[in-house]
Amino acid sequence: MPSANRQQPTVNSQTSSPGGFRGLIGQERAARVLQRGLKTGRTAHAYLFAGPEGVGKRTAALALAQALNCQRGDAVDDGCSACQSCRKIARGLHPDVQVVEPDGATLKIDQVRALGADAALRPYEGKRKVFILQGAEKMTEQAANALLKTLEEPPGWTVVVLLTITPSALPLTIVSRCQTVIFSAIASDALQAYLVATGIDHTQARLIVSCSGGSIGRALSPEVVSLGSSRDLFLEELGRGLRDGPAALIDLAERLAKDREGLRQNLEFLSAWLRDLMVAKVSRRQEWLINQDRGEEVAQQAEGLPLNAILDSLRVVNGTMDGLTRNANPRLSLEDLLLQLRASVSTGLLQVSA
Ligand SMILES: [Zn+2]
Repeated sequence: MPSANRQQPTVNSQTSSPGGFRGLIGQERAARVLQRGLKTGRTAHAYLFAGPEGVGKRTAALALAQALNCQRGDAVDDGCSACQSCRKIARGLHPDVQVVEPDGATLKIDQVRALGADAALRPYEGKRKVFILQGAEKMTEQAANALLKTLEEPPGWTVVVLLTITPSALPLTIVSRCQTVIFSAIASDALQAYLVATGIDHTQARLIVSCSGGSIGRALSPEVVSLGSSRDLFLEELGRGLRDGPAALIDLAERLAKDREGLRQNLEFLSAWLRDLMVAKVSRRQEWLINQDRGEEVAQQAEGLPLNAILDSLRVVNGTMDGLTRNANPRLSLEDLLLQLRASVSTGLLQVSA
């Protein structure tokens, strides 16, 4: 087990950081597009930041707001993080920079109307007013129509940044008035380097990266930070189920299926474990393993299993994960998966001593 007493990073450590584009991890392309606009004084009045959850869209929007309002000078391509304006923005205290989040399940017309009314007024103390709309795909139709009015005739000092994970869910009339900036899942090595820099040890960082789906938000969530122990619990339960037989596996499937978010993570653990068995089968290089902290068990299990059985199992697990993203029934898919695992690998696999 990795040591439990290292400093635990939290999502807050990122949002309360001084910010700026320097604080953005693994989004060089998006940063380049935005910083070029800043440098040449040609920022758009409306942006659409599109990309997966937790990859830095909000961080980038705040960095843009800092650069536009930095007191160090005009047309800087990054905020200084030190002036009063940059600091206020980083702490969410700047009156000209607002983050609007969905009120419950939707972004409502009243929220967008308030934004429009505020946008019409000159900045209170900064140079530009920046409105960041989080979860823009959750705008109701009326809210989108109200926003359109602001986007059609934006006051010169206003910048609106829409953040979304599903740009296709936004009306074209809105999208066509925005400059779209694409954010991608963060590359594994960039995320790994970032985690190590925050003080997480290499082994743990690898495990976290393998379960984060390229999302820094997810990588820093408390559940993922305590990953080692969740993995051990899951593998132990699975090992017991495989040993005890079909009835126990059906029971386990039912329990696991109840927690959708946990289920995805557990399947990622399983996929990473099988992947390691495959690696161990073809190489002795411990440093290639995701589960380096349990390298010995990986090697032992790999020895007792034919490569084909490992590959078959890995295929089944990845197929199940695909199916679940396409809304397959979790309990049935999981029953299927567990019974196939039992058939394709010996019951000795995944017997994990806690
Ligand atoms: Zn500044």
